[in-house]
Amino acid sequence: MQHEFYDMLMESQYWLPETMVAYQRSQLAQLLRHARANVPFYERRLDPVFTPSGDIDWDRWEEIPIVRRSDMVEHRDAMQARLLPRGHGPVGIIETSGSTGLPIRITISTIATYSAAALRWRGHRWQNLDWSKTTLSRLGDGDHALAWPEGENKGPWGLPGDSAAANGTLWSISRLFDTPDVMRFYKQFGASYLNAGPNMAHINALDVQRLGIDVRIEAILAQGNVIRQADRDICREVFGARMVEIYSAKEGGPIANPCPLDRLHVNSEGCLVEILDADGRPCAVGETGRVIVTPFYQTAQPLIRYEQGDWATVGAPCSCGRHHQVIDAIRGRSIAIFHHPDGRSVANLMPDETSSLLASRYWQLAQVGANAYELRYVPTDTESPGNEAAVRALFHQTFFADADLTFVRSAAIPLTSGGKLVEYLSEWRRPDR
Ligand SMILES: [Zn+2]
Repeated sequence: MQHEFYDMLMESQYWLPETMVAYQRSQLAQLLRHARANVPFYERRLDPVFTPSGDIDWDRWEEIPIVRRSDMVEHRDAMQARLLPRGHGPVGIIETSGSTGLPIRITISTIATYSAAALRWRGHRWQNLDWSKTTLSRLGDGDHALAWPEGENKGPWGLPGDSAAANGTLWSISRLFDTPDVMRFYKQFGASYLNAGPNMAHINALDVQRLGIDVRIEAILAQGNVIRQADRDICREVFGARMVEIYSAKEGGPIANPCPLDRLHVNSEGCLVEILDADGRPCAVGETGRVIVTPFYQTAQPLIRYEQGDWATVGAPCSCGRHHQVIDAIRGRSIAIFHHPDGRSVANLMPDETSSLLASRYWQLAQVGANAYELRYVPTDTESPGNEAAVRALFHQTFFADADLTFVRSAAIPLTSGGKLVEYLSEWRRPDR
């Protein structure tokens, strides 16, 4: 089953756009009919797209209401399928803490797990990863310590039946280990790849540099957070590692993988991804909007137009020969909409040079008043502040020219419970809200 899907993916990666659209619609039609018939939450929600004769009017797709993370908590029971399509079960439940609070549980069908695996293997092929090598994963399956202290051998991680993959091993270690222990395991297991969040990989690199540990890493499979250029640079410099950006989520599954040209392509065979502006319209190339995902095989708890919580920038077509939708950059969940008293709203990002100007790896921009902001940062060298004047000018260009900006230097910025840094947030509640 997984194999079949993988074989299809190796062909469908070169499909023409119209072939892909036809395939997506046939998958979506099955999902919509299943959800409408078997999932109470969707009984009426999908009405806009169903014609009186029961056909689907794709032109009205955007009228289907967006599913939010809070729905997963408030309507969890109503979102469960009473029946599964043949061959889709059994189901399992996974939990995610999320970076913005609201822990959720989601029911996953076996077929969703299979399709996710097949898409992951294709992603490995795109990046020319060698399945016979060893991968060390320190992501863990939850926030708890797992397999302490010796690590857990999870066996081969490549395509089942592939002769090279039979020699490969995935080792999983607790995410609570500090850098010297991670590197000790990495060498002890003879690993070539490291599975880690980009922030953690960045911290590991700085530790390795400071402690003078000699270790080479071929590739870092980075997921779970936004990858900044600074993360890529330090890992290249210290480990000689390239960073492979994998965009996936527990709810939405594997959403996008980088092609051989290192551009992120949506896994269009497994999900529909929409990137929408503030008015709910699709963003054009270069624009940044909210990611809305509809995974096709999530039949146990369907997510039809689910707001992932991430922001992403739409990319121009890629020249690698694959027509799958391109995402230029994942902006993560940490982007915020800042409001000006005159009614304007801006969701934007500070230019890349902000970190180097501030001489800071960690900073956070918060709206704290009607037209007042705080930029909190942790200077690398506590004795010398960053170039705040230059950053202030960038801030005024990026957001509002007349806004007040205060710099706050501190020893640390609190991370979320999931260990993530929120770079943009609004702490200002408008009086009219
Ligand atoms: Zn490409």
